[in-house]
Amino acid sequence: MLGIEHPIIQGGMQWVGKAEMTSAVSNAGGLGILTALTQPTPEALLGEIERCRSMTDKPFAVNLTILPTIRPVPYDEYIAAIIDSGIKVVETAGRNPQPFLPAMQDAGIKVIHKCTSIRHSLKAESIGCDMVSVDGFECAGHPGEDDVTNLLLLPLAARRLKIPFIASGGFADGRGLAAALAMGADGINMGTRFMVTQEAPIHEKVKQAMVAATELDTALLYRTLRNTARVFKNSVAEKVLEIEEREGPTDFDEIAPLVKGTRGQELFDTGDLEHGIWSAGMVIGLIDDIPSCRELVTRIVAEAEQIIADRLDSVLVR
Ligand code: NAD
Repeated sequence: MLGIEHPIIQGGMQWVGKAEMTSAVSNAGGLGILTALTQPTPEALLGEIERCRSMTDKPFAVNLTILPTIRPVPYDEYIAAIIDSGIKVVETAGRNPQPFLPAMQDAGIKVIHKCTSIRHSLKAESIGCDMVSVDGFECAGHPGEDDVTNLLLLPLAARRLKIPFIASGGFADGRGLAAALAMGADGINMGTRFMVTQEAPIHEKVKQAMVAATELDTALLYRTLRNTARVFKNSVAEKVLEIEEREGPTDFDEIAPLVKGTRGQELFDTGDLEHGIWSAGMVIGLIDDIPSCRELVTRIVAEAEQIIADRLDSVLVR
């Protein structure tokens, strides 16, 4: 459906999903994804799509996330730009994409909707999405409020969905890919793992911090606001947690200066790890190197093939 060689999709990462990242994943045989809101305007997004086209002749997609933001976003204009650009795969996330579906479908765009629950996945199927990306509680960024991990979500999705689905959250290696396929997914979506690659356009110190981290080094912010986000546990995240614990349902304005996305963007540029917050999944516990995207994708596919051919076929007593 997506015209890609390997069943590996790059997660839509704010400030990371630029042309360098996206083209590297697509050139490695996966599906790279530009994040629309990383570009300040729809016109800038059109420019970034062109830049990405100059770096790969393979298919790539655009992510549009619709969640609370500090500054209002002209979503209709971003959708219009995506359609005008001729992009053929769009990942939507955050809110029901129904208002935008007819225009995208008329333009021949395949829509992958990212869902953190089975009920949202079924809804996405019923409104005509082509595929869903099922995002477990392990994931980076916004895991929803249900706290169900992929060991449950994926088999449930396999039982209930008719459209294909991608497993998202907690994936970094061939074991994960083989497990996702075994549980009924058609591929995996990886954000955090692709952040820690040579081509990810973020400061080396951020990558090294993620290599050094364990699965215990993430924090869940904005629980009191029902807009939970999993981020890397640095001093800024700990400060936000302190405010949320002290005050119960928190006034977002009090934490906004600490968490605003532009500070995360500056952190990625400068490598000042305590300047803001950044999204990271529990899978940082499985990341211990900084390969190229091609090395990473090739390794994951080879590991999964070996596990499926050797191990899965031999462990059951016949
Ligand atoms: P931002 O600077 O506008 O906001 C920073 C964070 O605060 C975001 O997580 C946002 O959802 C949250 N937020 C903003 N206003 C809020 C409010 N009134 N109540 C509760 N929470 C609020 O966002 P950004 O960093 O520039 O990111 C742009 C978009 O990308 C946002 O919609 C953000 O949620 C989304 N995003 C998604 C992921 C993901 O999990 N897929 C990760 C990072 C960012």
